[in-house]
Order: sequence, then C-alpha cells, then structure tokens
Amino acid sequence: MCNICGNPSLNHSPIYSRRNFLKLVGGAGMALAVPGRDLFAAGETPKPQNVLSPGEALARLKKGNARYVEGVAKRHDFVAEREALVGGQNPFAGVLSCADSRIAPEYAFDTARGDLFVVRVAGNFMDTDGLASFEYTVKFLGTTLLVVLGHDKCGAVDAAIKAVKGAELPGHLPELVEHIEPAVKAAMAKSGDLLANAIRENVLRNVENLKAASPILSQYVSEKKLMVVGGIYKLDDGRIEWLG
Ligand SMILES: [Zn+2]
Repeated sequence: MCNICGNPSLNHSPIYSRRNFLKLVGGAGMALAVPGRDLFAAGETPKPQNVLSPGEALARLKKGNARYVEGVAKRHDFVAEREALVGGQNPFAGVLSCADSRIAPEYAFDTARGDLFVVRVAGNFMDTDGLASFEYTVKFLGTTLLVVLGHDKCGAVDAAIKAVKGAELPGHLPELVEHIEPAVKAAMAKSGDLLANAIRENVLRNVENLKAASPILSQYVSEKKLMVVGGIYKLDDGRIEWLG
C-alpha cells in the first residue's frame, strides 16, 4: 500500500518523487507558482486547438489513429510548429507507451509536436516518475486525457511472464518486470492466450492506478476534468483497440 497515493500496488517514495519532480520542472523552465491553467500567462497556450474537453481529446486521438491506419496522415509544418512552441506547450493528451521501437504515439495518433505528452518505458507501467510527469502535464499544461497504450506481442510483458515462471533475467530487467508481474499473475488465472491477457491486464491496471493516484490525478478525474483510458496498439495494421 502506497502511503502517498493509497494505491495497493505502488509504493511511492516522497523524497525520491519530490526530487525528481523538481528536477523535471526546473529543466522545463516552468513557473511552479502558477497553480493551474486558468492563470497561465499569454504565450503558454501556443496551440488553441489543443484546449479540449476529455471527450473531445479522445475523439481527436481516434480520428488521428484512423488517418494513420488508412495511410492518409496530415502533412505537418514543422517550421511553423517550432516557432509556435518556443514560448510554451499545451499538449491535449498524455500517453504512457511502451518503449518498443515499433510503437510511435505521435505517428499512431497523427499528431504533431506540442500535442502529446509522452512517457515511455518498456512494458508501459506507471512508476513514481511517470506519475509525476503526468501530474505535471495535467496540472500545469492543461492536459485533459491520459492514455495507457499497450501493444500486442510486447516483449516486456513476455519477459515478465518468463520471470513469473522462474526464468532468471539479466541486469536490471528483474526490477523492471516486477512492475508487470501482478498483471501477469492475474492473467494466469484466466483462460485464453496468456501474453494477450497479460498485456490487456497490464493496461487496465495502470489505467486504474492513474485514476486513483492522489492527490492530483484522482481529484481531476472526480471533477471530470480528466479522463484516463486504455488502448492496445495492433502491430499488423496500426489500429488501436480501445479498452473499457
Ligand atoms: Zn512492449
């Protein structure tokens, strides 16, 4: 049980979390004195089209993924975007994605720079740093939608299955797959394809963890200012299967 967010499967360290959050914010040059998006100074909302409700943000991601699947992605003017984003950022969605090189959230949703706040780690699980990153984008950048994006044939989840079955993994991999093992064990109790079930379970568990993460995300969810959803990217055609 985490004493910070109350989540039974997490254990956040307050010192570690605070140190990393301050490092993150300091590196981004943000003014922490700003308590919310309503007080953002002019120039910190460089993309007015990114000011969306949670439902509008999800609809935009779905349309973007449809264009990507059909091969009719927009042409992005990186020069103009670069200029607009010098003064700030207001990404409309945050994505927790696997680090797998075949998954590219900006491509998969046909989005541009400044649109997605992406946290990536093999196995797309939320740890303290990922949580702090999303707290930052929700509270200070106005993001209204978070997506936990798993994918089929995930090697990290497969490694977690092997570890649960007794395999010894090299280096720091055991520490990584520890985060995925609860989902693997839950999937083992179900019939069907173990890897596919574990991938799905891992996404769903991280969605719930993000929704329940206090003090920031849980509050925004309860006030309906934030939606957290899960999806599974299909390697064969790029389609995203939305969960829930
Ligand atoms: Zn993966």
